[in-house]
Amino acid sequence: MSPFPRADYARVSRYEPDRRPVSLDLSDNTNLWGTHPAALERIRAATADDLARYPELYADVLRDAVSVRFDVDPDCVTTGAGSDDVLDSAFRAVFAPGATVRYASPTFSMIEPLAHMNAMSAEAVPWGEALVDPARLCEGRPDLIYVCRPNNPTGESAPAEWVERLLGLADEAGPDAPLVILDEAYADFGGETLIPWVARYSRLVVARTASKAFGLAGLRCGFAVASPETTLEIEKSRGPYKVSRLAAEATAAALRDDSGWMASTVEECLANRARLHSALTERGLRPFDSRANFILFAAPSGQARADALSLRDRGVGVRPFIGIPGFGEGLRVTVGPWPLMERFLEALDAILLDGAARDRANGEMTR
Ligand code: PMP
Repeated sequence: MSPFPRADYARVSRYEPDRRPVSLDLSDNTNLWGTHPAALERIRAATADDLARYPELYADVLRDAVSVRFDVDPDCVTTGAGSDDVLDSAFRAVFAPGATVRYASPTFSMIEPLAHMNAMSAEAVPWGEALVDPARLCEGRPDLIYVCRPNNPTGESAPAEWVERLLGLADEAGPDAPLVILDEAYADFGGETLIPWVARYSRLVVARTASKAFGLAGLRCGFAVASPETTLEIEKSRGPYKVSRLAAEATAAALRDDSGWMASTVEECLANRARLHSALTERGLRPFDSRANFILFAAPSGQARADALSLRDRGVGVRPFIGIPGFGEGLRVTVGPWPLMERFLEALDAILLDGAARDRANGEMTR
């Protein structure tokens, strides 16, 4: 008999970042300009059948829309309820007792729990000041290698040559080569996708989401592109009926749309990212050079959790990060329309002032 609860789930907990309601939530990297109008139009035209009947087994309407937009065969596309779900299916597809997932850290915070949820071991290699040597990610042949590009939470994008070297080294294992997942959740803000590379590397899986630039986080739609053989294995692990009909059709409408809604919000986001980067630099907060729709910067007091709580007291939600190698503690803020960034900067200036006042008071007390 298998014990319940599972012994290996002792290390798994519910995913519970601080999401208490806050008047300005800049913590989750969604599109703060709103949602895709083409998707909203499809949702508004919902019929009883959309809800009463089962959706397509494998969301063909969404597969087809991805296939056209990225110029790949539909057999190379898998879908899921958000890219978390696509990653989960990919992890499960490679799982075997003792399987390992390796990644450079810090990276997307769901990777470690996803590994543990799938009874795999998670092996984090710290980034340090420089990029991790791809050889270290391949050493000892893990079953799965995860790379986030641009990386959450730093926003940095590993050069294409670095990914090419990693894929070359991984492929040297021949039929035992690890699966390499390249998470491009933020690629719409970084300007470069490596989706075309799936034609060259049979173990490469490029994961994407509708939750960020498309403004559809509430719909829960994600997808991935890989070779037909790899896609089939992930589809087996995914199972049927994962994406609701409305979610699949609304996301497909957004993918097919050429009205320029997404391009214009991305353009404004990039302009505001540059402005916010300068504002943070002026305040001495060492912002990372981000290619995504968020910026990670040094926690003003050096204590990210305390600073995030101080900002929250002023109505602004950001995400704290601790133990970033070679950097310390940081706060990650989503880039949005400039009036929202001004509200964020006002709250930030207030906590910087409080900190300065505290330092002065402490100085006087110790004098
Ligand atoms: N990958 C990365 C790097 C992310 O930051 C996120 C969301 N925070 C996801 C995947 C998951 O996105 P979703 O499940 O909403 O598609």
